[in-house]
Amino acid sequence: MSRGAEAPLVGIDLGGTAIKAGAAAPDGKILERRSIPAELERGPEDLAARIAGLARELGCVEGLGLGVPGLLDREAGVVLTSANLHQIDGFALVDAIAAELGLPSSCVALENDANVAALGEAWAGAGREDPDFLMVTLGTGVGGGVVLGGEVITGSGGLAGEIGHVCVEPGGLLCGCGKRGCLETLASATAASKRAQAAGLPADLAEVNALATSGDATATELLFKVGRDLGRGLAAATVLLDLRVFVIGGGFGAALPLLRPGIEEGLSERAYGREAGDYRILGATLGPDAGWIGAARVGQLRAQENRD
Ligand SMILES: [Zn+2]
Repeated sequence: MSRGAEAPLVGIDLGGTAIKAGAAAPDGKILERRSIPAELERGPEDLAARIAGLARELGCVEGLGLGVPGLLDREAGVVLTSANLHQIDGFALVDAIAAELGLPSSCVALENDANVAALGEAWAGAGREDPDFLMVTLGTGVGGGVVLGGEVITGSGGLAGEIGHVCVEPGGLLCGCGKRGCLETLASATAASKRAQAAGLPADLAEVNALATSGDATATELLFKVGRDLGRGLAAATVLLDLRVFVIGGGFGAALPLLRPGIEEGLSERAYGREAGDYRILGATLGPDAGWIGAARVGQLRAQENRD
């Protein structure tokens, strides 16, 4: 066995506020995890140096995977544009990290954050038993990643699986993407919180969940409606790909038990050829570790490619 095959797999999940990182065993088991503030104001070179430092501390030998939100040029290793990380727009992040580590750029694999979270759940989380599923992350926005045959489908430019921008309500609210009525405007944590306030409920979704759990009719109805919109969006994915398994993650994903009746209603309304009972709607199991674990897997796959 080569030294590289024994080395821990290192993954980095870069977000607007924190850099989450960790080392995993070749089977996806967590060995070690770290989190440091992103401090993007210190500039892109400084960011690359700190990411490389983390990777080194975690035992990076052969290379690593990196998950980043936004539009990426994965071949060139450049973050083209990212709403929460605009300080690194256009920066050759992969080259800079590889140079710091003294590795060829091909040893650092860049992937979209939603795709790495999906891959993490496929490799070591809720999707382990199901080679085909859609991962949906309910956070500030609605992220998505399609896993088919155990692999994330990236599409020609890495945008495959962006379920958050499927139109659920034509002419509806303006989305961050510039279009109207996207799933994200109805079922993200941000949107759900706004809808809760409009219904006279607290803005804090944990409080809304607690109210619904204790039988409050307004809170229960709100979560049903948000779930129904989510189900209507998921219906587009199942019509197109005949997906039967959905993995729901992100902070607001914790409300899944209360969203589920609505999700099933939305699916039965709009999906084709199947009954609501045909679907498996699972909670993500890796929580905030999904991103870096999936990134570690992306790094492992890249290392395999480089060896071949
Ligand atoms: Zn949109």
